[in-house]
Amino acid sequence: QAKIEGRNNYQFYNAELDRKLTENVRLENDLRKALERDELQIHYQPIVELTEKKMVGLEALLRWEHPTLGFISPYDFIPIAEESGLIVPIGEWVIKSVCQQIIAWEKETSNKYSVSVNLSIRQFYQSNLVQVISESIKETGIDPSQLTLEITESMTMDVNKATIILFDFKSLGVNISMDDFGTGYSSLSHLQVFPIDFLKIDQSFIREINTKSEKRTGIIAATILAMAQNLGLKVIAEGVETKEQLQFLEEHGCNYAQGYYFSKPQPVEMLKEYMK
Ligand code: C2E
Ligand code: MG
Ligand code: MG
Ligand code: MG
Repeated sequence: QAKIEGRNNYQFYNAELDRKLTENVRLENDLRKALERDELQIHYQPIVELTEKKMVGLEALLRWEHPTLGFISPYDFIPIAEESGLIVPIGEWVIKSVCQQIIAWEKETSNKYSVSVNLSIRQFYQSNLVQVISESIKETGIDPSQLTLEITESMTMDVNKATIILFDFKSLGVNISMDDFGTGYSSLSHLQVFPIDFLKIDQSFIREINTKSEKRTGIIAATILAMAQNLGLKVIAEGVETKEQLQFLEEHGCNYAQGYYFSKPQPVEMLKEYMK
């Protein structure tokens, strides 16, 4: 009985795996076409400075509307782009587009917004990334401090290499943000050495903030905030959805916030109102 079940299971998993692989190959091909046909889009989510309650920057978030499957989440297609190497040309396209958008906003609004771009691990270790960024900055004429690169803790596992790359970024004059902070591994001693400007508290810790409950939650968020203050890092809270969460963050000295409470990520046309 066990043997039969085992074999059935094996066949089931095999078929499932096969289906997944076929699906991924299809998506990879479609993603390649989407890039060639200019079908990828970037939405932008405002980042609000909390003492002035002013939008000071935005995060660029990739969007892909598949011709038959509809919108596919970056959580699903970024890994495919990463595995196939497509993330490299896609990432270059994002960086260039963002730099152009920064200039377009500056012309329209006379404001110098800072825009954050997410990097993936393969991109981070791509030897010509620094050159791509430097060229985009020069070609568009943005102030390098208007560009922020978001990395994650997993990218810094190779501490020596990561340190060199991060200092290369800094020599360009761009800012560096540690995204999803608290969900990965990072040693506090390395955090101190890396030339990081911002820590982004992961949304899972923001979700735990609920001041209505008897026992005050949000202990991790508060701890990260206290630590960041001691390290001289500015903190961005991500995934802020409620007034209570915002109040808690303000009380604990958080510098910036982003989340549905302020605005969802939106296409450029839709942000006109917000820019005023
Ligand atoms: P992330 O960089 O941590 O981005 C934050 C995610 O949280 C975004 O999901 C955003 O839409 C979502 N979010 C923002 N505010 C709220 C909120 O109040 N509540 C909730 N529930 N969610 C909120 P999105 O756009 O689906 O992106 C998912 C992830 O995909 C990003 O996480 C990032 O890691 C990756 N990604 C997106 N664009 C790019 C890109 O251009 N390049 C690379 N390498 N990765 C990207
Ligand atoms: Mg991010
Ligand atoms: Mg992330
Ligand atoms: Mg994040």
